[in-house]
Amino acid sequence: SFDGQREFDYFALALQWPGTYCQRTRSCCPSNGCCRGSDSPTTFTIHGLWPDYNDGTWPSCCSRDSFNPKEISTLTNALEQYWPSLSCGKPSVCHGGKGSFWAHEWEKHGTCSYPVFRNEYDYFLGVLNIYFKYNITSVLNDAGYVPSNTERYPLGGIISAIENAFHASPLIICSKDAIEELRLCFYKDLQPRDCAISSDDKIDMVTSKGSCPKYVSLPEPVS
Ligand code: 5GP
Ligand code: 5GP
Ligand code: 5GP
Repeated sequence: SFDGQREFDYFALALQWPGTYCQRTRSCCPSNGCCRGSDSPTTFTIHGLWPDYNDGTWPSCCSRDSFNPKEISTLTNALEQYWPSLSCGKPSVCHGGKGSFWAHEWEKHGTCSYPVFRNEYDYFLGVLNIYFKYNITSVLNDAGYVPSNTERYPLGGIISAIENAFHASPLIICSKDAIEELRLCFYKDLQPRDCAISSDDKIDMVTSKGSCPKYVSLPEPVS
């Protein structure tokens, strides 16, 4: 049941860089689901696919339906690999209480992706398909931007590599000089578009929103 908030305008695929995210949470939870020390992925993993409005706001919690893990049981193996929860905290879910990272993302954002994705299974499968089709990690690796605890890379070079591959500019968020999150945006037909709202904003948005410096790193996870 879609609760009738105004339909969104576009999607942002939010990806996280475990080597940066886990600098904060690495020691907090040993097993299952969190940062796994030097076993953490050296690829971008999924944070979520977020419906957005062109004015910079977004809808959230668009349905009364709550997350049901059974609906996505055939996707669990892929989701554990590509959409792992790197944090120990149990996030809140829309209608009270706490849930998994997947429950949080589906209820808060996924339910607002209607009618592009019509149910929980459609959403998770759709997100995986977009993630595989627009493989940011391999675009960056192919351009020489590989995980490293010593190298710094020009932010402009990273942005150009992505623009050349997908003909759309991303939004990049840093923690100090390390890339923490990267967003790729899509029209409702799932073709890539700029994440910036207007061309005036473009230079500012790509670079300053996350206040990345001119040279950035892609740290390797450490234990
Ligand atoms: P933060 O305050 O860390 O930037 O964002 C907190 C949460 O707000 C995110 O995890 C996400 O759920 C939501 N959020 C932040 N920025 C955006 C955005 O641009 N679009 C959407 N749809 N949600 C966002
Ligand atoms: P802030 O005050 O940092 O902009 O946002 C505080 C909280 O409001 C954050 O958790 C963020 O996710 C949420 N928020 C900000 N803008 C929007 C919006 O347009 N829609 C929704 N649903 N939440 C928003
Ligand atoms: P958002 O920032 O998407 O609104 O909220 C993400 C929520 O999920 C936060 O409460 C955070 O603690 C929790 N969470 C669990 N695992 C992860 C993860 O791997 N990455 C992020 N960004 N948040 C996670």
